[in-house]
Amino acid sequence: MNPAQIADAFTATFGHVPQGLWSAPGRVNLIGEHTDYNEGFVLPFAIDRTATVAIRLRDDSTARLLSSFGDQGVVTVDLDTLSHETMSGWTAYPLGVVWVLRQMGVTIGGFDMFLHSTVPSGAGLSSSAAIECAVATAFNELASAGLSANELVLVGQRAENEVVGAPTGILDQSASLLSTDGHAVFLDCRTQASQLVPLDLAAAGLLILVVDTKVTHAHATGGYAARRASCELGAEVLGVAALRDVTAADLGEAAGLLDPETFRRVRHIVTENQRVLDTVAVLDDAGPGSIGGLLTASHASMRDDFEISCPELDLAVDTALANDALGARMTGGGFGGSAIALIPATSEAALRTAVLAAFADAGFGTPDIFAVSPAPGARRIA
Ligand code: ADP
Ligand code: MG
Repeated sequence: MNPAQIADAFTATFGHVPQGLWSAPGRVNLIGEHTDYNEGFVLPFAIDRTATVAIRLRDDSTARLLSSFGDQGVVTVDLDTLSHETMSGWTAYPLGVVWVLRQMGVTIGGFDMFLHSTVPSGAGLSSSAAIECAVATAFNELASAGLSANELVLVGQRAENEVVGAPTGILDQSASLLSTDGHAVFLDCRTQASQLVPLDLAAAGLLILVVDTKVTHAHATGGYAARRASCELGAEVLGVAALRDVTAADLGEAAGLLDPETFRRVRHIVTENQRVLDTVAVLDDAGPGSIGGLLTASHASMRDDFEISCPELDLAVDTALANDALGARMTGGGFGGSAIALIPATSEAALRTAVLAAFADAGFGTPDIFAVSPAPGARRIA
């Protein structure tokens, strides 16, 4: 749906025209996985897939919400009796943001909202943050809240943590809110300091291909919690506030203090933080054509040390590397979701064919394969 069609759908549903349309992108994390909750570094970029909300304020306390996704119909709630029970299903994302803003003292009354998103859901591209950031950006303007982009990041994170109940960091919302076209966001998750890093893939004749394996493992949530617990244990035994404070030079000593599994978890975080720093330096010096080895090393670390990959992700990565990719890695929380491959633009068709064939040969389900490019962050579009 284009913006005019989204506005038309809003009008057809609610019987009046929207006051505006706000969009926020999903993201790909180029490198820096599971480093966010260890107060480390990440390097995501916003992608050209967005969640768009059309909104009109009402003069009562009723909120009506409809998404073009699925067939759930219009959800109607009274904002004055908003509770964790009434913020359920997909509406937990937009209503969670409204709830957090209201908790912060921002005056938000009733509204009608139509949501249309082109970010695939559950593919590790953060369709959830795209919704939160579009809604946060919209109400920041509609309620004249005057919150900064960094404050809106925390609003989205609180909605995700406290309302949806997902214990996520600030990576997704930062990418969605802080990105600009043709750049990645280098983010220090301890200080929330960020820096835009040029990522001009097209000029280098490159693109990033996403392979959405469509695999969602039942143990993804438990695995995530277990990895967080291992990292906390590692930090405690090593006597640091967070694994961010451990460097490669400390690893030799850490090996003697930690059980072998916790040591491998810690080694992933420590080396991954360094790879993010190295990627930023290489992008600056030599450009995106030279970061492939870092991406592939990141995948090996997630597969062997952090143990969050799966056969489908490994196959996507190995097939990409055997077919001209400069580098490839799983991206997102792991145990399924998507892999990314940095490839010459001219190799796209061949790689697509190779991945589909490899998945068919292995008896895996058909993956979704699409190119993404660095795109602008959240903004008003109409
Ligand atoms: P990810 O953020 O990686 O895509 P999440 O599990 O965090 O995965 O978020 C997916 C959830 O976001 C879906 O289960 C759904 O509740 C919500 N969602 C995503 N896209 C839409 C949409 N277009 N309309 C309504 N809800 C959506
Ligand atoms: Mg999400």
